[in-house]
Amino acid sequence: MTRQADVIVIGAGAMGSATAWWLARRGRNVVLLEQFEQGHQRGSSHGGSRIFRLAYDDVRWVRRCQEALPLWREAMDVLQVPMLEITGGIDHGNPESVQAVANALEAAGASFEWLAPEAAGERWPGMRFETPVLYQADAGRCRADVALQAFAEGAGNAGADVYFEQGVEEMTVHDDAVEVRTEYDDYVAPVAVVAAGAWVRSLVGELVQLPPLTITEEQTFHYLPKPDDRTAWPSYIHHLDVFRYGLETPDEGIKVAEHHTGAVLTDPDERAYDTSPETESRVNYYVEHWLPGLDQYAVTAATCLYTSTPDHEFFVERHGPLVVVSACSGHGFKFTPLIGRLAADLAMQ
Ligand SMILES: Cc1cc2nc3c(=O)[nH]c(=O)nc-3n(C[C@H](O)[C@H](O)[C@H](O)COP(=O)(O)OP(=O)(O)OC[C@H]3O[C@@H](n4cnc5c(N)ncnc54)[C@H](O)[C@@H]3O)c2cc1C
Repeated sequence: MTRQADVIVIGAGAMGSATAWWLARRGRNVVLLEQFEQGHQRGSSHGGSRIFRLAYDDVRWVRRCQEALPLWREAMDVLQVPMLEITGGIDHGNPESVQAVANALEAAGASFEWLAPEAAGERWPGMRFETPVLYQADAGRCRADVALQAFAEGAGNAGADVYFEQGVEEMTVHDDAVEVRTEYDDYVAPVAVVAAGAWVRSLVGELVQLPPLTITEEQTFHYLPKPDDRTAWPSYIHHLDVFRYGLETPDEGIKVAEHHTGAVLTDPDERAYDTSPETESRVNYYVEHWLPGLDQYAVTAATCLYTSTPDHEFFVERHGPLVVVSACSGHGFKFTPLIGRLAADLAMQ
């Protein structure tokens, strides 16, 4: 039997879950289909933390963060789940690159302060600074796994049918409807939102002109603070040739990672989930030199997929009865409620 819905959402990562939540809240009859189990680690949205920051070097991105912030607050009010925690955030390193962030913040009317390296070292003794430090108080962390669960459950509580381990195996797109087939059921709706992360190309690559997408398997590591460390860890971006970033993940330690150094994959299902010893020893070396408040060896390591466009822009577009969402490039999580609302708006047009 074919089941009828107002909107089918494919993919229960951050973007699909938030889209389903917005749609269900607005009274739409939504089906959210996810190929893997709840809490799976095979896409881009798993793990305990993601950086939230306004600190971008482009005023358009700062404004998008400013738009996302009240939507996180609205989502937390409605769902009663602490999904975003404000800890403050730091940018330091290459002075030109950090100055560009300051310029963009200023152009967007966002507050920030500069600290001399010595003053920053006193305020965050577990970190080492050699250049002026930009501090932005609105930054913090998204509790990624908490948010993911909250949006999917919130969608379900608002009336959506949420199915895990029910991947879309076939999709047929008509002028005014989309039919999908899973192992268990068939569904039809006037519109489908494809929020399939690294799998987006395999679902819609022949139907929609996507930007070139590069899938990389990135690695993150967690370190424990030394026993005498008294740092209130902020989220931070260190502007070096290869950007390093990090933040505290509650109950896990301090995350430290390199941005955009992962191996390129041709197929998101063809991966070993192994972390590379070379990357781990580079990050250990970085920690030893720049984060003296941390033990030098990682206690946990994980892999995660970036799906990146050439200019790191997001792709959120409607094409006939399809809304296609690709919002990663390694920086999408902070925009989750904003992208979800945008996709929901497009689905309701
Ligand atoms: C290591 C790492 C660090 C990051 N750090 C930050 C950060 O600090 N700050 C920040 O803002 N962002 C960060 N990001 C980016 C952010 O996590 C992503 O932008 C976001 O998670 C993308 O979510 P998504 O829903 O698009 O993709 P996904 O989470 O991958 O969700 C897509 C879902 O679709 C499902 N799916 C695919 N095909 C099908 C099918 N046929 N049927 C059913 N389901 C299907 C998949 O199984 C998957 O669950 C980071 C990402 C990584 C990997």
